[in-house]
Amino acid sequence: MGQSRMVQLVLAICLLISFVIIPPARAESSFEAGAGAEALVIPQGISLAGYFQRRIWLTQNPPSNPNATYFQASTGQHDVIRAKATALKINNKKLAVVSLDLVAIFPGVREILAQRLTDLGYQPENIIVVATHTHSGPGGFANFRFWELLAADKFLPHFFSEIIRAAEKAIRIADSQLTPAVANTGGVGLDGLAVSRRSNQPIQTSLTWFRLVSRAGQPIATWVNLPVHSDLLTPANLEISGDIAGEVERKWEQRFGGVAMFFSGASGDIDPHGFTRDFDGLTRLGANFDNMISSVVPFQNAAFVPKEIETFTYSQELAKPYLNLGACVSFLGPFANILPYIPLPAVFAQPAQLVGMKIDKHAYVFIPGEPFQNIGEGIRQAGMKAGFETVTTVGLSNSYLGYIMDADEFNRGGYEACNSFYGPTYGAKILEGSEKLLGIMK
Ligand SMILES: [Zn+2]
Repeated sequence: MGQSRMVQLVLAICLLISFVIIPPARAESSFEAGAGAEALVIPQGISLAGYFQRRIWLTQNPPSNPNATYFQASTGQHDVIRAKATALKINNKKLAVVSLDLVAIFPGVREILAQRLTDLGYQPENIIVVATHTHSGPGGFANFRFWELLAADKFLPHFFSEIIRAAEKAIRIADSQLTPAVANTGGVGLDGLAVSRRSNQPIQTSLTWFRLVSRAGQPIATWVNLPVHSDLLTPANLEISGDIAGEVERKWEQRFGGVAMFFSGASGDIDPHGFTRDFDGLTRLGANFDNMISSVVPFQNAAFVPKEIETFTYSQELAKPYLNLGACVSFLGPFANILPYIPLPAVFAQPAQLVGMKIDKHAYVFIPGEPFQNIGEGIRQAGMKAGFETVTTVGLSNSYLGYIMDADEFNRGGYEACNSFYGPTYGAKILEGSEKLLGIMK
């Protein structure tokens, strides 16, 4: 072998070794995001879902109105009711988060959407559907007798189809807008805006957000987590409205652009405070909110390109479901305690599907009900202990299994305890399940 061939051979071996032992330059994350929104066409005179007080007994809606049966008919539409969606894509895996201006989500919506979106490649477990919990949104969305009679009025198949159409459209728009993006989180304390529904005492909470912007700097979407019941408007209001959620989304979009999606956080026991409970009050709340966010910097923390996005599900078994009649009339004092527990139908006897979403070091826990603030705080602490940088609990997700509280609150009775169906261990079980979920997510 000549010397030059020897050199060539050595070089070739060196080159081969370098391929094996030197890792290639780390490929940049393929993260993309897109957003879309679609207004729902609201049927004329449809009843509003959110307050049992709108139930009618002796009077009837005119037979010419097929869209309101057990609850008072709406008299008009004050503001838009929307489906909003964020699409995320990483390493060819897609995920969609949809927010609907409804009081709750009827189970099965994510499966229906996944079926209709097979051409785009969304799996049911990668679709998350949340309700903004507006108490002045349209009813007719729940194909379930219990909810029909107590909260959502008679099921309207044509309106349910409209909800699905709008949600699908919002996801399709979001998917078509997918573009390389960066993410950013932030938050600010809320003073004097929230009050405990249970004690009427001011409650300290905070506004947090997750914002997506294209790499070219165009706003895409923000998940605005504001843990307050979207119920500024009272049962007296008969105009369809997105309530606080709609107002907050409008203000955020006007100021920062993109699509804003309201998450109701862990707000089972939190009401708005300091505003008259009518449209004037809503306008003032919007102005106050806008003023507050005008001084925050949406890019408070450094923007980052997510490298990992994953969803997880944990199925948490719950105690036997029953209606605690005593809690519903706890104002009667000791007499209430002798009232029986009424077992609920088998359809209630189901585990709670807790859905987690991990975006690098940020954890979202989606709960199918209304967790109280301290349950959300417990979940946050469990997530921090597991090593996450931020942990956000989002109620009213994918389904609705009532209010979620600890044993003390359950035993105290009252409206929320009356609407809590899994006994005094419910809060502890959701907390336990969330801890397990966060453990898997880690
Ligand atoms: Zn509620």
